[in-house]
Amino acid sequence: MKPLEASPDLSTVFAHIEENRQSFIDRLIEYLRHPSISAYGEGMGEVADYLIDWLNRLGFNARLVSTPGWPMVMAKLMQSPGKLTVLLYGHYDVQPPDPLEAWISPPFEPTIRNGRLYARGAGDNKGQHFAQLLAVESILACLGKLPCNVIVLLEGEEEVGSPHIDQFIREHKDEIPADLVIISDGPVDVSGRSRLEFGVRGVISFELRAHGANTDLHSGNWGGVAPNPLWTLVHLLGTMKNSQGHVTIDGFYDNVDNPTEQERIALANLPIDLEAVKRDLGLTDFDEPLDRPFYDRLALYPTLTINGLHGGYGGPGSKTVLPHEALAKCDIRLVESQTVDEMFTKVEMHVKRFAPDVEFVRQDGMEPSKTPLDSPFAEPIYRGIVAAQGEEPLIVPAMGGSLPNYVFTKTMGLSTFVIPYANSDEANHAPNENIEVERFVKGIRTGVAMLISLGGFKG
Ligand SMILES: [Zn+2]
Repeated sequence: MKPLEASPDLSTVFAHIEENRQSFIDRLIEYLRHPSISAYGEGMGEVADYLIDWLNRLGFNARLVSTPGWPMVMAKLMQSPGKLTVLLYGHYDVQPPDPLEAWISPPFEPTIRNGRLYARGAGDNKGQHFAQLLAVESILACLGKLPCNVIVLLEGEEEVGSPHIDQFIREHKDEIPADLVIISDGPVDVSGRSRLEFGVRGVISFELRAHGANTDLHSGNWGGVAPNPLWTLVHLLGTMKNSQGHVTIDGFYDNVDNPTEQERIALANLPIDLEAVKRDLGLTDFDEPLDRPFYDRLALYPTLTINGLHGGYGGPGSKTVLPHEALAKCDIRLVESQTVDEMFTKVEMHVKRFAPDVEFVRQDGMEPSKTPLDSPFAEPIYRGIVAAQGEEPLIVPAMGGSLPNYVFTKTMGLSTFVIPYANSDEANHAPNENIEVERFVKGIRTGVAMLISLGGFKG
């Protein structure tokens, strides 16, 4: 791909960012002083109002849209007819700061040490969406007008699992006439390189509950006579995956797509030091199948994980008990063409067939999401990142984890790109969360360059 041509607009805005660097950092510090903890509601209204006020002052039509939980901040600036409309998504809520005693400086007293700004929300996600909004502000200050239309959507419930974003998007998608979605959240690569991420896996969680007698029994008096629910679960789980790492639930791999040539190359190009990973984790080897490359496993294949197996006695010494119940908690990560409903049904059928007396309990599900690597917006975004950072980002076809990006790709039908700005050791969700100050500034530049690059898009 070609780099973005040196554009006078770009240089003007980059110069503005340099001149205002200190005031931008000071403003982020001020923003981070305000808690917005969705888990128990502290400061949510104040931070949402601050965002609405700022966006309105920038010329956006901004409002708070209520949901059954914390409201969405939604703002539009549609001044460029005929140009693309870019939806910038982020979240204004943060994780609770506990344990407080583990913080070197208090979570809501932002402090810079060794080039890093420490505060709850510094990386996840305040520092990142603040950079996006400063990018918009800087373009408006220098050029008077945005190069494309921009819709800002800032969620207030991301840190509690986005329970209402699906419903919100279904109800409001007609008011969001976007062409593509840009999300800046999460960390860059551990190598320090930027990442341009196209997809995430989906996930379902479920429980298997086995029941025996109506009470725990003496293993001498009843062993060999009364059924043992732990053995029932062990046998059932044994029918679900073999020792070669192949999941043996009927149809489990039915909708696993073959990677495109572009995806295959991108996955092979992602840097990974397998020996270092093993050393870090204290592993002598990876899980089967060993011949499958590291990133292929995370991006291209579904997985079945036993999260916990519970029942009977686990305390010190021995207890010759025959437990009366047993529980397994499991999750399955889904890849692009699989669906939550399809997979729940397949597992349920499997349980019915092999252990009809075991109770199958559906829990949460989140659909997978993927944007094709040949999306027409990928190249202008890529060129914007290179122009802002002077280095090519890694192309990540799909990440192993799960985010509700399907509401944009599947419900709205939009190409969706994740471009993280935070350092890989941002300590999100942990004490001493931080963002490297230079990465925050680079984030503002990247936001600017992506919008200018997309402004030149010719479909
Ligand atoms: Zn988070």
